Amino acid sequence: MEFDTIAAISTPMGEGAIAIVRLSGDKAVEIADRVFKTPGGKSLMQQPTHTIHYGHLHEPKTGEVVEEVMLSLMRAPKTFTREDVVEINCHGGIVSVNRVLQLVLVNGARLAEPGEFTKRAFLNGRIDLSQAEAVMDLIRAKTDRAMNVALGQMDGKLSRLIADLRQALIETLAQVEVNIDYPEYDDVEEMTVPVLLEKCSWVRDEIDKLLQTSSQGKILREGLSTVILGRPNVGKSSLLNSLVQENKAIVTDIAGTTRDIIEEYVNVRGVPLRLVDTAGIRETEDIVERIGVERSREALKEADLILLMLNSAEELSVEDERLFETIQHMDYIVVVNKTDLERKIDLNRVYDLAGKSRVVTTSILKEEGVIELEEAIAALFFEGQVEQGDMTYVSNARHIALLHQAKDVITDALDAAEAGVPVDMVQIDVTRTWELLGEIVGDTVQESLINQLFSQFCLGK
Ligand code: GDP
Ligand code: ZN
Repeated sequence: MEFDTIAAISTPMGEGAIAIVRLSGDKAVEIADRVFKTPGGKSLMQQPTHTIHYGHLHEPKTGEVVEEVMLSLMRAPKTFTREDVVEINCHGGIVSVNRVLQLVLVNGARLAEPGEFTKRAFLNGRIDLSQAEAVMDLIRAKTDRAMNVALGQMDGKLSRLIADLRQALIETLAQVEVNIDYPEYDDVEEMTVPVLLEKCSWVRDEIDKLLQTSSQGKILREGLSTVILGRPNVGKSSLLNSLVQENKAIVTDIAGTTRDIIEEYVNVRGVPLRLVDTAGIRETEDIVERIGVERSREALKEADLILLMLNSAEELSVEDERLFETIQHMDYIVVVNKTDLERKIDLNRVYDLAGKSRVVTTSILKEEGVIELEEAIAALFFEGQVEQGDMTYVSNARHIALLHQAKDVITDALDAAEAGVPVDMVQIDVTRTWELLGEIVGDTVQESLINQLFSQFCLGK
């Protein structure tokens, strides 16, 4: 395929130490050569692939020096886009990076659209769609574990599994065809249905397994929605602050503080938490307060994990017991706070109410117990889980939706085959399953979808 040469800043904007302007396309080396000079005056055109060069960027017309840079030269096809790629490493800072970008744009490159580098990698056959989407996830990954999921997917783990499933479906379809085409088999149904049932059940089970990882994959991507619940003054805000201070807060564009609800992203032992401090779940007459309470209730409904805080220095109240009731069917950890004060709470009663849920005692004031709480959170999340490396996670909403559809259709096929529906009817559903799985890796997707997907990427990737 032939494309023009594109350029973009491929490092995050801001005050980074180094920023990279990336060029990709047939004229990448030629354009770079026009604006780049080494101290020895050698031309880039003669340089071998995968080499790094030191020199200065200058305006070809005036000779004015723009920047001191390191330049990486990578010729097709062993590059990310499978095209000639030049990466110009310059000093960070918005002004200087923009000058470099302007320089290559003036000298023949076109500004890349969001996601266009990745789109080219896809269109040039370097990566499939699920891998392209992984690139985007990688850019947005909030924790190391989330990054591992994206890396695994970029590496093609999901693609290979999908390919195996599709292969099994194709084999089934071929078998059916053969049996129908050879009249010497006097009973096509008898020959075909057992094969069909076996292969299709296997495919459905594998899809099921993938879907079971989806909630965890989604959480790794988006954060475990965690609500800190408790009566006023038990220490909810103090706990939130303490967790945020001890753990790297995750930068996010999601709306933060409001009058009644506070949200923070933190990384607790590899588990990204979306922490919500509630205004308290109470009945109220006050309209303004009611809005806060309603939002709290909503947050509670969507929560993956509750941290129920109690005050050790007070007896359990009716309200505390009611909170236990509210969350009885959810995952929660009980946090008995203010252990530095004289204890009035009946801990045995607390353990009774908590049942199987963990109880952790803390004094946020004295910075005690927070590490134990973090360990309890991580344990809850990773409990009984297979080693990270062995799992293929799906975390992408588009993939999850397609897998659900594929599962429904293949289930229809299995039901129909079992009910004695003619195999050539069942074939239709099997073919449809094959198509749906193909959409995950981009085999059967329409162009409009591809454009829409890639336009979501960050500029410069
Ligand atoms: P919230 O209303 O549940 O958010 O509670 P806050 O976090 O605002 O805390 C209420 C009060 O309790 C504040 O004065 C905190 O300093 C205090 N507090 C929080 N944690 C502890 C603790 O572990 N021990 C003691 N003695 N005081 C605490
Ligand atoms: Zn508070």
